[in-house]
Amino acid sequence: QKGGVGKTTTAVNLAASLAAAERRTLLIDVDPQGNAGSALGIRRDDSDKSIYEVLLDGMPLKEAVRKTELKFLDLVPASKHLVGAELELAEVEGREYRLKHAVDQLAGEYEYVIIDCPPSLGLLTVNGLVAARGAMIPLQCEYYALEGLADVLKTIELVRASANPELVVDGIVLTMFSPNNLANQVADEIRKTFADQVFDTVIPRNVRLSEAPSHGKPILLYDVTSKGCQSYLELAREVTQRAGGLA
Ligand code: ATP
Ligand code: MG
Repeated sequence: QKGGVGKTTTAVNLAASLAAAERRTLLIDVDPQGNAGSALGIRRDDSDKSIYEVLLDGMPLKEAVRKTELKFLDLVPASKHLVGAELELAEVEGREYRLKHAVDQLAGEYEYVIIDCPPSLGLLTVNGLVAARGAMIPLQCEYYALEGLADVLKTIELVRASANPELVVDGIVLTMFSPNNLANQVADEIRKTFADQVFDTVIPRNVRLSEAPSHGKPILLYDVTSKGCQSYLELAREVTQRAGGLA
C-alpha cells in the first residue's frame, strides 16, 4: 500500500531469481507507473497489448505476454492507459475479478505468477489480491511501518472475507534494511509480533539495486555479486522452500 517500500524491486528481482532457478515465472505489472516493465528493459510503451486491454477489453492474458532477457521469465507490461483504469473498472461488471479470470486462463504454463501492485488500495490492487494465492508484503523498518502494515492486513482480511477466501499471507519481507537502532528495534518488534510470517531473508539497502532499473536489468544481470542480488536469490530459495504458504 505504501509508496516506495520496495514492492517493484522485490517483484522484479524475486521473479528474476525464481527464473534463474529455472522456475517458469510470469511477472504482471498492474501499476500505471509501469516500473516493473521498465526495470526489465521493456519501456512502458503504449501498444495495445498490455494489462490494460486484459482488464478492460477482456483480451486473453497470453496475447499481452512479452519475453524478457531471462529465458524463464515473461512479463505482462502496464501501459499509460492504465492510469484511467481505476475509474473505468468501477463501471465494469465483476470489476474485482478481471485479473483473476485472466490469470485462470493460464493453464499451468507458469510455476510462479508475481503481480506488482500500485501504492494504493484501489481496484487495481484489489484485482491483484483477488487473483493471488498469497500476498507478499515488503516492509521498510521505519517508525510508521507497523501502522501501514495493519492497514494492509485489514485489506487482505476484507478480500479474504469477500472475493478470495483462499488468500494467504505468504510473508513479510524486510526491505531496504540498514542496521541502525531504529531499524533493529522495528525489525525485532515485527519478528516478535509476526513470528514465522516474516521471511528470514532481509533485503539490505544496496545502491546496486537502485541502479539496476535504469539499465533495464534485474540485479542478476547487472551485478550478480552485489549484496542486493545475493539477498534476492536467498529470498527466492526461501519462497520455493515455503511453497505451501502460511496462515
Ligand atoms: P511504488 O509504491 O512507487 O510502486 P515501490 O514500493 O514499488 O514504489 P520501489 O520502486 O521498489 O518501491 O523502490 C523505491 C525506490 O527505492 C526505487 O528507487 C528503488 O530503486 C529503491 N530501492 C528499492 N529497494 C532498494 C534497496 N534494497 N536498496 C536500495 N535502494 C532500493
Ligand atoms: Mg512500484
